[in-house]
Amino acid sequence: MIQLKDKKDCCGCYACVQKCPVQCIVMEEDEEGFFYPTIDLKQCIDCGLCEKVCPVIHQGKERRPDIIYAAKNRDNSIREESSSGGVFTLLAKAVISQGGVVFGVRFDEQWKVRHDWIDNEEDIAFFRGSKYVQSDVSDHFRQAEQFLKQGRQVLFSGTPCQISGLKLYLRKEYENLLAIDFICHGVPSPKVWEQYLHEFLKKRGISKKNVYSVLFRDKIFGWKTYSFTCKYAKTPRGYERRVSEPFYKNSFIKGFLADLYLRPSCYDCPSKCFKSGSDMTIADYWGIDDVLPEFNDDRGVSLLFIHNPDTTFLLKEEYLELKSTTYEQAVRKNRSTEKPAALPSERDAFFSMLKNRSAMETIDHFTRIPFGKRVKSKIKSLFRLILKQ
Ligand SMILES: Cc1cc2nc3c(=O)[nH]c(=O)nc-3n(C[C@H](O)[C@H](O)[C@H](O)COP(=O)(O)OP(=O)(O)OC[C@H]3O[C@@H](n4cnc5c(N)ncnc54)[C@H](O)[C@@H]3O)c2cc1C
Ligand code: SF4
Ligand code: SF4
Ligand code: SF4
Repeated sequence: MIQLKDKKDCCGCYACVQKCPVQCIVMEEDEEGFFYPTIDLKQCIDCGLCEKVCPVIHQGKERRPDIIYAAKNRDNSIREESSSGGVFTLLAKAVISQGGVVFGVRFDEQWKVRHDWIDNEEDIAFFRGSKYVQSDVSDHFRQAEQFLKQGRQVLFSGTPCQISGLKLYLRKEYENLLAIDFICHGVPSPKVWEQYLHEFLKKRGISKKNVYSVLFRDKIFGWKTYSFTCKYAKTPRGYERRVSEPFYKNSFIKGFLADLYLRPSCYDCPSKCFKSGSDMTIADYWGIDDVLPEFNDDRGVSLLFIHNPDTTFLLKEEYLELKSTTYEQAVRKNRSTEKPAALPSERDAFFSMLKNRSAMETIDHFTRIPFGKRVKSKIKSLFRLILKQ
């Protein structure tokens, strides 16, 4: 049976919970807001299945894809709403048009982040856009398995470790499964997110029930200068208002990018280097300006790694602009492909301060750039400007 010696040995994929034949595993929240399995030893029959499906114990082989594209959905309105080039929506549409089912990540009514499934095109919007919070997988591997056994086409999207967990849970290959992951920086704590959102709304006098959109990757100031945006109405039937903050000014995104509150497993990720067994991996093509500058219109370019060449028929050129690129070009500015985030020395201090202070205050405290450093960086940029002239 699963015995966790260290928090980093569990990525929270829920595979063990769903596999246990006597349902004696439950996920319980720890003080940082992440969920871990707890076993009721009285009920456990010691079958060992929970260990067999664990992606930390059974890690896949590293892979190096040969087919890699820079990709843009030709529908600019979809691209505006997507985090990078809008490839996910295109794949989801293709699967739904064949009568298939799509699993992805959405907000619930409380703005918590969870997996869900859909089988009609309008609902793809719920999954569109990255949510920088760990999702609750719940029993969605089991539900996906049921659809697969019925012979329906299934697209399952998730973090690489969630895809590893799904593949181990299924324990056989299904031709009707399209497993999609992304290059993953790591997932922040759901508790920090909930606390942060509560404070963000309270500070601005916004009622949670009047919020109708939260975007971590709004492109209002462009793809590369993405923003955190909250859209709301003053009254339940009022007109739309919005608050938008560029990523470098938004506390939650700053703390995410500083790796302050990622899940412990993310600092020792079991699924880097495409170990998940997915059919495709999508990502932001951050290095596009060094490789194909004319392809970048600052509305978003995806990187698309193809691991299973049988899936390329889904990439129809009438809907998608594609340009081939090399592995070296693709990963040069995407460090998270091969390397996990470094564990910050202040992480423990962050969670201890969070016990007594607000999330915003705590994040700001640990992401504040000291005055000396700020002055130095101002001087450096002034020099750069002078040298350019
Ligand atoms: C937590 C996180 C970290 C990421 N880190 C990187 C990175 O370091 N480098 C990089 O290049 N790209 C990263 N990405 C991926 C990138 O942000 C885009 O999601 C990806 O390029 C797909 O963009 P798109 O335009 O095709 O589609 P979009 O419409 O933006 O696709 C959204 C897809 O992401 C899924 N999704 C959204 N939130 C979550 C979540 N919390 N957990 C699991 N699945 C989720 C949805 O189900 C959907 O499949 C990350 C995404 C997330 C969620
Ligand atoms: S060993 Fe079997 S019965 Fe015990 S917790 Fe694991 S899956 Fe459940
Ligand atoms: S990584 Fe997944 S399977 Fe392994 S212990 Fe954690 S929740 Fe269970
Ligand atoms: S960084 Fe690794 S462990 Fe963390 S969510 Fe991403 S794939 Fe999972």
